[in-house]
Amino acid sequence: MIADNIRSVEERIQAACDRAGRSREDVTLICVTKTKPVEDLRQAYDAGQRFFGENRVQEIIEKYPQLPDDIQWHMIGHLQRNKVKYLMDRAVMIHSVDSAALAQTISKEAVKAGRVMDILLEVNAAGEESKFGLGYDQVLPLIREIAPLPGIHICGLMTVPPYTEDPETSRGYFQKLRKLSVDITSQSIDNVSMRILSMGMTGDFEVAIEEGATHIRVGTAIFGARNYDI
Ligand SMILES: *Cc1c(COP(=O)(O)O)cnc(C)c1O
Repeated sequence: MIADNIRSVEERIQAACDRAGRSREDVTLICVTKTKPVEDLRQAYDAGQRFFGENRVQEIIEKYPQLPDDIQWHMIGHLQRNKVKYLMDRAVMIHSVDSAALAQTISKEAVKAGRVMDILLEVNAAGEESKFGLGYDQVLPLIREIAPLPGIHICGLMTVPPYTEDPETSRGYFQKLRKLSVDITSQSIDNVSMRILSMGMTGDFEVAIEEGATHIRVGTAIFGARNYDI
């Protein structure tokens, strides 16, 4: 079933790329595996998937040793500073940086681990109280502040627009994120490349691709609804 779901998501990705005149290789599908058992991840792996996203460090710690090591793990959820160290030998990218303090901790731990961590800045697209992330006008000042830090590379932006049944509602937020990334690129800041736009989930990933997403984060369409009680 998971393999069938992936095939159908792949078809939709390809169709969106075709509509937008983009190449399939320019869009990375991150399978969002939060709350799902390792057997489900294994099925996605066997169907060819190599990019997995989790929103809790604890789940990455538990699942990581049980799965092949050519999986690239993306941390996509709110991150506490005291958990950052556990990501250094497990994650390829952190999508959810929204403060200088968090960036400084990632920098410190990355230097200690002898690596560079790719990070994205999370933008709270609609300014929702319930969500983490930066306001649009906070992004550039934060980038200027943290760009000089060793051990991190700022490589783009991430957003989660408000939940909606109508994917068209997300389009404006995706356009704004893309425009912000273009504005930041035009500043030519050292150690900053805006090559990644992480946007689009089960409900709106096709619109996100049309608006320039390079990384889409898809859970429900691949693994089914999540049950938070188990
Ligand atoms: C859960 C989650 C997703 C995936 O959501 P679906 O609607 O299940 O595709 C994407 N991004 C983030 C940050 C998430 O927490």
